[in-house]
Amino acid sequence: MQKRPITDWLPITKKEIEQRGWDELDVVLISGDAYVDHPAFGNAVIGRIIESEGFRIGIVPQPNWQDDWRDFKKMGRPKLFFGVSGGCMDPMVNHYTAALRKRSTDAYTPGGVAGFRPDYATSVYCKILKDIYPDVPIIIGGIEASLRRVTHYDYWSDQLMPSILKSSGADLLVYGMGEMPLREILRLLKKGVPFTSLRTIPQTAFLQPKTKELPINKQWETVQLSSYEQCLKDKRAYAANFKHVEQESNKIRANRLTQGIGEDILIINPPYPPMSEAQIDQSFDLPYTRQPHPKYDKRGSIPAYEMIRFSVNMHRGCFGGCSFCTISAHQGKFISSRSEESILKEVEQVTQMPDFKGYISDLGGPSANMYKMKGKVQSICDRCVSPSCIHPVICSNLDTSHKQMTDLYRKVDAHPKVKKAFVGSGIRYDLLVDSYNKNADDSLDEYMEQVVCNHINGRLKVAPEHTSDDTLRMMRKTIVQAFSCVQGQIRFY
Ligand code: SF4
Repeated sequence: MQKRPITDWLPITKKEIEQRGWDELDVVLISGDAYVDHPAFGNAVIGRIIESEGFRIGIVPQPNWQDDWRDFKKMGRPKLFFGVSGGCMDPMVNHYTAALRKRSTDAYTPGGVAGFRPDYATSVYCKILKDIYPDVPIIIGGIEASLRRVTHYDYWSDQLMPSILKSSGADLLVYGMGEMPLREILRLLKKGVPFTSLRTIPQTAFLQPKTKELPINKQWETVQLSSYEQCLKDKRAYAANFKHVEQESNKIRANRLTQGIGEDILIINPPYPPMSEAQIDQSFDLPYTRQPHPKYDKRGSIPAYEMIRFSVNMHRGCFGGCSFCTISAHQGKFISSRSEESILKEVEQVTQMPDFKGYISDLGGPSANMYKMKGKVQSICDRCVSPSCIHPVICSNLDTSHKQMTDLYRKVDAHPKVKKAFVGSGIRYDLLVDSYNKNADDSLDEYMEQVVCNHINGRLKVAPEHTSDDTLRMMRKTIVQAFSCVQGQIRFY
């Protein structure tokens, strides 16, 4: 197998930048994860988007924050901004178990070795950058920034913390999946709009002094949350905030949120509508090598990459609305699905990988069986504030047909190099239970038969979560009887 040229990856060393003939960069990304050039890895997606918009970009993966900060200086001062992310997982989840024990491995580091990123990585990286380059703007994104955008409970320190914009000193925060706001930021900067004027881009947040007028956008209503200080005094104020944040993260026409923090006000602009098929295809069809950067060749495999290297993600979003889950706060409840063409193109790429043995490990998404699902009447969904489309009952407006998924599975199966394509993501089995799903049609049985007979390795991955109906209700999950029903249906095959 012929080796790819190093320029097929985005540059992560000074030498690679010089090989491209660049003397300076427009954007430098600092990331808590190793650089794997694959659409499942945030730093690759963001880097490829910036590249596709015509900018010169370099990545500093897992910089050493404990020495003389040479990693933060090696790419030089970027012309536009630094982009900072703690990685695909919140660094605290990455570092500690729920019992607060230190983990011994890190799935996003070569060899699975722990210790290559700090606790609260986004804030640590930003403070270093502000120390070295105080006048260069910083944009933060990724799961840590996204889920800590407003006053939040930090399990590890057991306290309410203010927006991460306060603790990090960053200039702008992008929440959720970053493609749309990032493209708009780049488009405006290209036109010469000053960074400090980027105040009405959807899906971004920032701080400004309380004395300043709110930026004008006539289409947005503003909902004022209880301040950080009120939340510290009153748990109910915090809980009420949480409800607003959840609702506004999952609306088609959402409101702008504001929250006082000391002398500042946090402004969270409403999110973009869910990505269209063309927009999500554009992101997945970028020229990824689908491999870790060759610099890691001698440091061992990257566990998170090993897990997904032969898998294909078909959609984003989840309308389950489970109360303990962060997907709705990050990706939202509306499903953005890739086209069949884009998915099959990626399947073809996977089959071309030198060590592909004929097995696709996952045709999936946040919940495997939500591909292409949406409301029957969109105008009803446009006004909806429900956190879940399937709890406590399946919404009568939800089209739960599994037909497009089944057809696509069959097309993947028909690929001459695919021996088996597994569905490794969790399946929402309640959608498949006739007595629970009043919208059921023939496509459900057809899907179940297709999955059970052709796409599982003997174990169907489901998530019943609990056996107590009272607890399940609090979790916004289906009663356990639905699980018994689906077990009965599986035995039939
Ligand atoms: S109307 Fe029904 S299908 Fe549409 S978003 Fe609301 S719960 Fe989901």
